[in-house]
This record gives sequence, structure tokens and C-alpha cells, in this order.
Amino acid sequence: MPKRGMLIVLSGPSGVGKGTVRKEIFSREDNTFHYSVSMTTRKKRPGEVDGKDYFFVSKEEFEKEIENGGMLEYAKYVDNYYGTPLKYVNEMLDQGKDVFLEIEVKGAMQVREKVPDGLFIFLTPPDLMELRQRIINRGTDDLATIDKRMEKAVGEIEMMQNYDYAVVNDEVPKAAEKIQTIIRAERWRVKRFLPDYKKQLGLDDQQ
Ligand code: 5GP
Repeated sequence: MPKRGMLIVLSGPSGVGKGTVRKEIFSREDNTFHYSVSMTTRKKRPGEVDGKDYFFVSKEEFEKEIENGGMLEYAKYVDNYYGTPLKYVNEMLDQGKDVFLEIEVKGAMQVREKVPDGLFIFLTPPDLMELRQRIINRGTDDLATIDKRMEKAVGEIEMMQNYDYAVVNDEVPKAAEKIQTIIRAERWRVKRFLPDYKKQLGLDDQQ
């Protein structure tokens, strides 16, 4: 049986550019990840293809999938359901393939519970990093603006602490590059590598 694949979850606050970064990763020739196409009840946008961008379904169909235990995770976002069908993810992981999810934060936390050995990457907006400088340069922003930004930053940091890695989305190609580097390194993490190595040496049952 092949070594089980790795589940990679890219998430982050709304509007940070998760979809753009994901598309950049998948447009690269050396990409080896398998994208899990989500299911949604939202309307198809011009140019979107059913089965490629999303599986577009009715509310009833989506709720039936939930009832049947067919979703790895799901969330309501702006009055629509979005979710990850479980079957594809399991089949790919069983075949030793790495599966890539690009989902919002509530769904990502459900996956964290169910698949603790997944790799969780948080995409963060560059302006969060500029905050400190803005506070130092108080003259340029009024207090109300700084407070609002602080509040947003606190919320984002609260989300971020549930992830393994954070990537600043300053420039899309750079963010994609950083994500690929993280995944490459993650494969060689001792906890992922050691069980296989032990198996090969016939040390399965030892510490
Ligand atoms: P959009 O409608 O712009 O395509 O996506 C809206 C949001 O839903 C984005 O933040 C996207 O990452 C998220 N999303 C897409 N697919 C899924 C999914 O399967 N599960 C969850 N929880 N969120 C998703």
C-alpha cells in the first residue's frame, strides 16, 4: 500500500487572495498536488465550469450530502454553503497523492479536528504586517483608523494561531513560491518521514 498522501489546507481571511494564489500554484508545470473541487450552492459566475471550479448544486442537494456524511467540512459563507466532498479526498490520500484544499477559516478548523496530521497554511494580508509601522507613524493615520485596523489584526491573529505556517500575500508568485517551499520541507519532517523509514527497517512495533 502506498504511503498516505498529505492533506494541505490553504486558508485565511476573506479577500486575502486565496483563490488567486491557489490558481498560481496549480498553473505551474511542476505542480504535483491534486485540487479538491468544492461543492457550493452559490450561482455560477461567468467563465466558471461545473466540476472544475466548483460542483454547483442546489441547497437541497447540499443538505442531503451533509446528512449522508459526504462532506469532510462545510460552512455557510455569505448565505451559501461551501464544502469539501469527502470521497475524492480520501481516495486521493489512499493512493498516496497530496490533496490541496483552498477553503475559508471555519471549514479549515473542522478539517484540523478531523485530520490533525494535515498541513495548515494561513495566508495573511500584507497590511497586517504594516500595522506596526503605521502605529509608529501615528501622524499619518487618525486614531479611529488605527483602532479599526488593530481590531481586524487581532481577529486575524486569533485565527492564525491555529495554523502551522503563515504566508504573507505580498505578491502572488512569491506567496505561491513560499507555499511550495513549506510543503517541500514538510515532507521531511521527522514525524512524517520516520514511520516509513521504520517500516522499511522492520522496526514497526518499536519506539
Ligand atoms: P467564492 O464564492 O469567492 O468562490 O468563495 C468564497 C469563499 O469560500 C472563499 O473564501 C473560498 O476560499 C471559500 N471556499 C471555497 N470552497 C470552500 C469549501 O469547500 N469549504 C469552505 N469552508 N470554504 C470554501
